[in-house]
Amino acid sequence: MRTVVVSDVHANLAALEAVLRHAEEGGAVDGVWCAGDIVGYGPEPGGVIELLRRRGVVAVAGNHDRAACGLMGVEEFNPSAAEAALWTRDQLRTEERDFLASLPLTRVEGGFTLVHGSLRSPVWEYLLSAEQADAHFALQATPYGLIGHSHLPFWVEERPGRGPEFFAAGDGTRVELGDARLIFNPGGAGQPRDGDPRAPYAVYDDGEETVTWHRAEYDIAATQQKMRAAGLDAWLIERLAIGK
Ligand code: ZN
Repeated sequence: MRTVVVSDVHANLAALEAVLRHAEEGGAVDGVWCAGDIVGYGPEPGGVIELLRRRGVVAVAGNHDRAACGLMGVEEFNPSAAEAALWTRDQLRTEERDFLASLPLTRVEGGFTLVHGSLRSPVWEYLLSAEQADAHFALQATPYGLIGHSHLPFWVEERPGRGPEFFAAGDGTRVELGDARLIFNPGGAGQPRDGDPRAPYAVYDDGEETVTWHRAEYDIAATQQKMRAAGLDAWLIERLAIGK
């Protein structure tokens, strides 16, 4: 079975469609997992929710999802993120809000624990240091973890006695699952921040026991045009073209 693994789709429907198309070119796709931030920043929150639900997504909530459905305020967001969150809240139909409100903070699927930020702070912590990875691993009851939030594609390997080690993941990077405990970040599909504007995602193949990262090209200008038409913040529009 091949499972498409995404995070931080951020209402970027063109990016999500490109990811699914790209993944299907590599073989049948049996499921979709999302590590949160389905909405926020982008122009098509309802379209992204609909497509993910149609694909039977297994998802956890991100900070933007909780703000968009009213479970959390926007006081801790920066000004452009807050503005986008309030815009998103206005766009959503009741059943779309209910779907976001129903998302758990953590979820176990097979050998993976899904959480948006970290197990210590599920929607807020950017897991980027060895200390943070240690704290997360201490709470991770499964061999593997799936996170998002930083919008960076990488994985962390737990090295007993040596501390966790971080590895950046590029297009085609493949990790074989074995004895080591691991944390995966597929990257921010709808708003990459590693300098590559193509939409990042990963495929978990439970037959091969591998996780492989990919990048999908999509029509960035089309998403930017929809954001402009919606009156969304200029920097949120610009950053899509540079992947920052
Ligand atoms: Zn995000």
